[in-house]
Amino acid sequence: MLARNSELDGALSSVQQLEDRFNKRFGYPWVFLNEVPFTDEFKEKMSAIISGPVSFGLIPHDHWFQPDWIDEDKATSGREHLIKDGVIYGVRHSYRNMCRFNSGFFYRHQLVQKYKWYWRVEPNVNFLCDTDFDPFLFMEENDKLYGFTVSLYEWPQTVPTLWDAVKEFIDIHPEYLAPNNSMKFLSDNGGNTYNMCHFWSNFEIANLEFWRGEAYSKFFDHLESKGGFYYERWGDAPVHSIGAALFARKDQIHFFDDIGYQHPPFAHCPRSAEVRRDKNCTCSQFGSFDYNAYSCLRKWEQVVRS
Ligand code: GDP
Ligand code: MN
Repeated sequence: MLARNSELDGALSSVQQLEDRFNKRFGYPWVFLNEVPFTDEFKEKMSAIISGPVSFGLIPHDHWFQPDWIDEDKATSGREHLIKDGVIYGVRHSYRNMCRFNSGFFYRHQLVQKYKWYWRVEPNVNFLCDTDFDPFLFMEENDKLYGFTVSLYEWPQTVPTLWDAVKEFIDIHPEYLAPNNSMKFLSDNGGNTYNMCHFWSNFEIANLEFWRGEAYSKFFDHLESKGGFYYERWGDAPVHSIGAALFARKDQIHFFDDIGYQHPPFAHCPRSAEVRRDKNCTCSQFGSFDYNAYSCLRKWEQVVRS
Protein backbone atom coordinates (compact mmCIF):
# COMPACT_ATOMS: atom_id res chain seq x y z
CA MET A 1 0.00 0.00 0.00
CA LEU A 2 1.16 3.43 -0.97
CA ALA A 3 -0.30 5.92 1.46
CA ARG A 4 0.04 9.34 3.04
CA ASN A 5 0.19 9.85 6.80
CA SER A 6 -2.99 11.90 6.52
CA GLU A 7 -4.81 8.84 5.15
CA LEU A 8 -4.29 6.78 8.31
CA ASP A 9 -7.96 6.20 9.07
CA GLY A 10 -8.77 5.15 5.52
CA ALA A 11 -5.70 2.94 5.41
CA LEU A 12 -6.67 1.24 8.69
CA SER A 13 -10.15 0.64 7.34
CA SER A 14 -8.89 -1.03 4.14
CA VAL A 15 -6.34 -3.13 5.99
CA GLN A 16 -8.76 -4.21 8.70
CA GLN A 17 -11.25 -5.38 6.09
CA LEU A 18 -8.71 -7.31 4.07
CA GLU A 19 -7.30 -8.90 7.22
CA ASP A 20 -10.80 -9.98 8.31
CA ARG A 21 -11.95 -11.08 4.87
CA PHE A 22 -8.73 -12.78 3.76
CA ASN A 23 -5.40 -12.41 5.42
CA LYS A 24 -6.13 -13.62 8.95
CA ARG A 25 -6.20 -17.09 7.36
CA PHE A 26 -2.96 -16.60 5.43
CA GLY A 27 -0.78 -14.13 7.33
CA TYR A 28 0.84 -12.59 4.29
CA PRO A 29 3.18 -9.65 4.97
CA TRP A 30 2.14 -6.04 4.38
CA VAL A 31 4.42 -3.36 2.95
CA PHE A 32 3.60 0.36 3.28
CA LEU A 33 5.40 2.96 1.20
CA ASN A 34 5.51 6.74 1.42
CA GLU A 35 7.71 9.54 0.08
CA VAL A 36 8.00 10.96 3.62
CA PRO A 37 8.60 8.85 6.75
CA PHE A 38 5.49 7.29 8.26
CA THR A 39 4.60 8.78 11.64
CA ASP A 40 4.87 6.72 14.81
CA GLU A 41 1.10 6.92 15.07
CA PHE A 42 0.69 5.42 11.59
CA LYS A 43 3.14 2.63 12.30
CA GLU A 44 1.79 1.79 15.74
CA LYS A 45 -1.88 1.77 14.82
CA MET A 46 -1.25 -0.18 11.63
CA SER A 47 0.96 -2.79 13.29
CA ALA A 48 -1.71 -3.33 15.94
CA ILE A 49 -4.31 -4.60 13.47
CA ILE A 50 -2.03 -6.76 11.31
CA SER A 51 -1.48 -10.40 12.20
CA GLY A 52 1.61 -11.15 10.13
CA PRO A 53 4.83 -9.27 9.30
CA VAL A 54 4.64 -5.58 8.42
CA SER A 55 7.19 -3.09 7.11
CA PHE A 56 7.20 0.64 6.43
CA GLY A 57 9.43 2.04 3.70
CA LEU A 58 10.61 5.37 2.41
CA ILE A 59 10.55 5.92 -1.36
CA PRO A 60 13.92 7.01 -2.81
CA HIS A 61 13.80 10.67 -3.93
CA ASP A 62 14.37 9.95 -7.62
CA HIS A 63 11.61 7.34 -7.71
CA TRP A 64 9.05 9.92 -6.63
CA PHE A 65 9.90 13.48 -7.57
CA GLN A 66 9.83 15.06 -11.02
CA PRO A 67 13.16 14.46 -12.80
CA ASP A 68 15.36 17.52 -13.51
CA TRP A 69 15.22 17.06 -17.27
CA ILE A 70 11.46 17.67 -17.35
CA ASP A 71 10.76 21.11 -18.82
CA GLU A 72 8.80 22.74 -15.99
CA ASP A 73 7.21 25.38 -18.28
CA LYS A 74 5.86 22.63 -20.49
CA ALA A 75 4.64 20.65 -17.47
CA THR A 76 2.93 23.74 -16.04
CA SER A 77 1.16 24.46 -19.29
CA GLY A 78 0.09 20.80 -19.45
CA ARG A 79 -1.50 21.10 -16.01
CA GLU A 80 -3.23 24.38 -16.93
CA HIS A 81 -4.63 22.69 -20.00
CA LEU A 82 -6.25 19.96 -17.91
CA ILE A 83 -7.54 22.40 -15.30
CA LYS A 84 -9.25 24.34 -18.08
CA ASP A 85 -10.87 21.11 -19.26
CA GLY A 86 -12.00 20.39 -15.71
CA VAL A 87 -10.12 17.09 -15.52
CA ILE A 88 -9.84 15.56 -12.05
CA TYR A 89 -6.36 15.94 -10.50
CA GLY A 90 -5.38 18.20 -13.42
CA VAL A 91 -3.69 20.54 -11.02
CA ARG A 92 -1.80 18.25 -8.68
CA HIS A 93 1.91 17.71 -8.98
CA SER A 94 1.83 14.94 -6.40
CA TYR A 95 -0.75 12.98 -8.39
CA ARG A 96 1.69 12.82 -11.28
CA ASN A 97 4.50 11.65 -9.00
CA MET A 98 2.19 8.94 -7.70
CA CYS A 99 1.19 7.76 -11.19
CA ARG A 100 4.79 7.61 -12.36
CA PHE A 101 5.88 5.81 -9.19
CA ASN A 102 3.14 3.22 -9.52
CA SER A 103 3.89 2.80 -13.21
CA GLY A 104 7.59 2.20 -13.02
CA PHE A 105 9.08 2.17 -9.55
CA PHE A 106 7.10 0.46 -6.79
CA TYR A 107 8.28 -3.00 -7.83
CA ARG A 108 11.92 -1.91 -7.52
CA HIS A 109 11.61 -0.70 -3.92
CA GLN A 110 14.01 -2.46 -1.57
CA LEU A 111 11.18 -3.78 0.61
CA VAL A 112 9.31 -5.12 -2.42
CA GLN A 113 12.31 -6.64 -4.22
CA LYS A 114 12.14 -9.93 -2.35
CA TYR A 115 8.57 -10.62 -3.46
CA LYS A 116 7.19 -12.18 -6.61
CA TRP A 117 3.49 -11.40 -6.06
CA TYR A 118 1.55 -8.46 -4.70
CA TRP A 119 -1.99 -7.30 -4.04
CA ARG A 120 -2.25 -3.54 -4.33
CA VAL A 121 -4.47 -1.95 -1.71
CA GLU A 122 -5.42 1.70 -1.24
CA PRO A 123 -6.83 3.61 1.74
CA ASN A 124 -10.62 3.86 1.82
CA VAL A 125 -11.45 0.84 -0.31
CA ASN A 126 -13.87 -1.90 0.72
CA PHE A 127 -13.61 -5.66 0.44
CA LEU A 128 -17.15 -6.88 0.05
CA CYS A 129 -16.79 -10.68 0.29
CA ASP A 130 -14.65 -13.25 2.05
CA THR A 131 -11.66 -14.44 0.08
CA ASP A 132 -11.19 -17.97 1.37
CA PHE A 133 -8.87 -19.12 -1.40
CA ASP A 134 -5.29 -17.96 -1.93
CA PRO A 135 -5.23 -15.69 -5.00
CA PHE A 136 -1.44 -15.72 -5.15
CA LEU A 137 -1.39 -19.50 -5.35
CA PHE A 138 -4.16 -19.35 -7.92
CA MET A 139 -2.07 -16.99 -10.05
CA GLU A 140 1.04 -19.12 -9.69
CA GLU A 141 -0.66 -22.43 -10.41
CA ASN A 142 -2.59 -21.13 -13.40
CA ASP A 143 0.29 -19.27 -15.04
CA LYS A 144 -1.39 -15.88 -14.59
CA LEU A 145 0.47 -12.57 -14.54
CA TYR A 146 -2.14 -9.89 -13.92
CA GLY A 147 -5.49 -9.91 -12.07
CA PHE A 148 -8.19 -7.23 -11.93
CA THR A 149 -11.77 -6.67 -10.75
CA VAL A 150 -12.88 -3.43 -12.43
CA SER A 151 -12.12 -2.05 -15.88
CA LEU A 152 -13.23 1.22 -17.44
CA TYR A 153 -12.46 4.03 -19.88
CA GLU A 154 -9.70 6.59 -19.27
CA TRP A 155 -10.25 10.34 -19.73
CA PRO A 156 -8.81 10.96 -23.21
CA GLN A 157 -7.49 14.41 -22.19
CA THR A 158 -5.06 12.77 -19.75
CA VAL A 159 -3.32 10.64 -22.39
CA PRO A 160 -3.35 12.52 -25.73
CA THR A 161 0.03 11.20 -26.92
CA LEU A 162 0.31 7.97 -24.90
CA TRP A 163 -0.78 5.74 -27.76
CA ASP A 164 1.70 7.39 -30.16
CA ALA A 165 4.44 6.43 -27.73
CA VAL A 166 3.06 2.89 -27.50
CA LYS A 167 2.99 2.49 -31.29
CA GLU A 168 6.50 3.83 -31.56
CA PHE A 169 7.65 1.27 -28.98
CA ILE A 170 5.94 -1.58 -30.81
CA ASP A 171 7.64 -0.49 -34.05
CA ILE A 172 11.06 -0.58 -32.38
CA HIS A 173 10.40 -3.78 -30.40
CA PRO A 174 7.83 -5.97 -32.14
CA GLU A 175 9.52 -8.97 -30.52
CA TYR A 176 8.05 -8.06 -27.10
CA LEU A 177 4.44 -8.45 -28.21
CA ALA A 178 3.07 -11.66 -26.68
CA PRO A 179 1.49 -14.16 -29.02
CA ASN A 180 -2.24 -14.14 -28.38
CA ASN A 181 -2.12 -10.77 -26.62
CA SER A 182 -5.09 -8.54 -25.80
CA MET A 183 -4.59 -5.74 -28.32
CA LYS A 184 -8.31 -6.03 -29.03
CA PHE A 185 -9.04 -4.89 -25.47
CA LEU A 186 -7.09 -1.68 -26.10
CA SER A 187 -7.93 -0.90 -29.68
CA ASP A 188 -10.97 -1.35 -31.88
CA ASN A 189 -9.01 -0.88 -35.10
CA GLY A 190 -6.09 -3.26 -34.88
CA GLY A 191 -3.86 -0.94 -32.89
CA ASN A 192 -4.30 2.27 -34.84
CA THR A 193 -5.98 4.17 -31.99
CA TYR A 194 -6.48 3.56 -28.26
CA ASN A 195 -10.07 3.02 -27.12
CA MET A 196 -9.20 4.13 -23.53
CA CYS A 197 -10.02 0.76 -21.92
CA HIS A 198 -7.91 -0.12 -18.92
CA PHE A 199 -7.91 -2.26 -15.81
CA TRP A 200 -8.52 -0.14 -12.73
CA SER A 201 -5.15 -0.39 -11.04
CA ASN A 202 -6.18 0.61 -7.51
CA PHE A 203 -6.89 -3.14 -7.27
CA GLU A 204 -4.22 -5.39 -8.72
CA ILE A 205 -3.04 -8.87 -7.93
CA ALA A 206 -0.04 -9.36 -10.13
CA ASN A 207 3.41 -10.75 -10.72
CA LEU A 208 6.21 -8.30 -9.85
CA GLU A 209 8.65 -10.14 -12.10
CA PHE A 210 6.47 -9.25 -15.05
CA TRP A 211 7.04 -5.53 -14.40
CA ARG A 212 10.73 -6.15 -13.73
CA GLY A 213 11.10 -8.13 -16.95
CA GLU A 214 12.78 -6.86 -20.10
CA ALA A 215 9.65 -6.03 -22.11
CA TYR A 216 7.88 -3.91 -19.51
CA SER A 217 11.12 -2.30 -18.24
CA LYS A 218 12.04 -1.12 -21.72
CA PHE A 219 8.45 -0.05 -22.30
CA PHE A 220 8.44 2.04 -19.14
CA ASP A 221 11.80 3.62 -20.03
CA HIS A 222 10.39 4.53 -23.43
CA LEU A 223 7.31 6.17 -21.88
CA GLU A 224 9.42 7.92 -19.27
CA SER A 225 11.63 9.40 -22.01
CA LYS A 226 8.55 11.11 -23.49
CA GLY A 227 7.84 13.00 -20.26
CA GLY A 228 4.12 12.24 -20.54
CA PHE A 229 3.76 11.53 -16.82
CA TYR A 230 4.33 15.28 -16.34
CA TYR A 231 3.50 16.96 -19.66
CA GLU A 232 0.19 15.12 -19.73
CA ARG A 233 -1.29 13.07 -16.88
CA TRP A 234 -0.55 9.50 -17.85
CA GLY A 235 -2.07 7.22 -15.23
CA ASP A 236 -0.55 4.02 -13.94
CA ALA A 237 -3.81 2.27 -14.83
CA PRO A 238 -3.54 2.72 -18.62
CA VAL A 239 0.23 2.21 -18.49
CA HIS A 240 0.00 -1.08 -16.57
CA SER A 241 -2.98 -2.18 -18.63
CA ILE A 242 -1.25 -1.55 -21.94
CA GLY A 243 1.82 -3.39 -20.66
CA ALA A 244 -0.21 -6.37 -19.48
CA ALA A 245 -2.41 -6.49 -22.56
CA LEU A 246 0.52 -6.41 -24.99
CA PHE A 247 3.32 -8.30 -23.24
CA ALA A 248 1.25 -11.04 -21.57
CA ARG A 249 -0.90 -13.61 -23.31
CA LYS A 250 -4.60 -12.98 -22.87
CA ASP A 251 -4.97 -16.17 -20.82
CA GLN A 252 -2.40 -14.74 -18.37
CA ILE A 253 -4.76 -11.92 -17.41
CA HIS A 254 -7.43 -12.87 -14.90
CA PHE A 255 -10.74 -11.29 -13.98
CA PHE A 256 -11.27 -12.00 -10.26
CA ASP A 257 -15.04 -12.30 -10.38
CA ASP A 258 -15.02 -13.92 -6.92
CA ILE A 259 -13.48 -10.93 -5.12
CA GLY A 260 -16.00 -8.26 -4.12
CA TYR A 261 -14.26 -4.90 -4.20
CA GLN A 262 -15.20 -1.25 -3.98
CA HIS A 263 -13.13 1.83 -4.63
CA PRO A 264 -15.75 4.55 -4.50
CA PRO A 265 -17.54 5.37 -6.71
CA PHE A 266 -17.32 1.95 -8.41
CA ALA A 267 -17.58 -1.61 -7.20
CA HIS A 268 -17.41 -5.14 -8.46
CA CYS A 269 -19.66 -7.77 -6.87
CA PRO A 270 -19.44 -11.49 -7.80
CA ARG A 271 -21.98 -12.34 -10.47
CA SER A 272 -23.24 -15.59 -9.03
CA ALA A 273 -25.82 -15.44 -6.21
CA GLU A 274 -24.38 -18.68 -4.85
CA VAL A 275 -20.90 -17.20 -4.63
CA ARG A 276 -22.27 -14.07 -2.94
CA ARG A 277 -23.94 -16.26 -0.32
CA ASP A 278 -20.97 -18.57 0.21
CA LYS A 279 -18.57 -15.68 0.61
CA ASN A 280 -20.78 -13.55 2.83
CA CYS A 281 -20.80 -10.68 0.38
CA THR A 282 -22.25 -7.36 1.47
CA CYS A 283 -23.03 -6.34 -2.10
CA SER A 284 -25.43 -7.26 -4.86
CA GLN A 285 -25.34 -7.28 -8.63
CA PHE A 286 -27.19 -3.95 -8.60
CA GLY A 287 -24.20 -2.04 -7.30
CA SER A 288 -21.78 -3.81 -9.60
CA PHE A 289 -20.02 -1.78 -12.28
CA ASP A 290 -19.48 -4.83 -14.53
CA TYR A 291 -22.00 -4.02 -17.24
CA ASN A 292 -22.27 -0.28 -16.69
CA ALA A 293 -22.00 1.71 -19.92
CA TYR A 294 -18.57 2.98 -18.81
CA SER A 295 -17.23 -0.47 -17.98
CA CYS A 296 -14.85 -2.29 -20.33
CA LEU A 297 -15.72 -5.74 -18.96
CA ARG A 298 -17.88 -6.61 -21.96
CA LYS A 299 -14.99 -5.86 -24.24
CA TRP A 300 -12.69 -7.96 -22.05
CA GLU A 301 -15.10 -10.88 -22.26
CA GLN A 302 -15.16 -10.58 -26.05
CA VAL A 303 -11.37 -10.72 -26.08
CA VAL A 304 -11.37 -13.84 -23.91
CA ARG A 305 -13.90 -15.54 -26.18
CA SER A 306 -12.25 -14.57 -29.46
P1 GDP B 1 -7.25 7.92 -7.23
O1 GDP B 1 -7.56 6.52 -6.79
O2 GDP B 1 -6.82 7.98 -8.66
O3 GDP B 1 -8.32 8.87 -6.90
O4 GDP B 1 -5.95 8.40 -6.42
P2 GDP B 1 -5.65 8.29 -4.86
O5 GDP B 1 -5.69 9.65 -4.24
O6 GDP B 1 -6.48 7.22 -4.23
O7 GDP B 1 -4.14 7.82 -4.88
C1 GDP B 1 -3.76 6.54 -5.28
C2 GDP B 1 -2.85 5.89 -4.24
O8 GDP B 1 -1.66 6.64 -4.10
C3 GDP B 1 -3.45 5.79 -2.86
O9 GDP B 1 -2.94 4.61 -2.27
C4 GDP B 1 -2.92 7.01 -2.15
O10 GDP B 1 -2.81 6.79 -0.77
C5 GDP B 1 -1.55 7.15 -2.78
N1 GDP B 1 -1.09 8.53 -2.91
C6 GDP B 1 -1.62 9.51 -3.71
N2 GDP B 1 -0.91 10.65 -3.59
C7 GDP B 1 0.07 10.40 -2.71
C8 GDP B 1 1.14 11.20 -2.16
O11 GDP B 1 1.33 12.36 -2.49
N3 GDP B 1 1.98 10.57 -1.27
C9 GDP B 1 1.80 9.26 -0.89
N4 GDP B 1 2.66 8.74 -0.02
N5 GDP B 1 0.82 8.50 -1.38
C10 GDP B 1 -0.04 9.05 -2.28
MN1 MN C 1 -7.81 5.79 -4.98
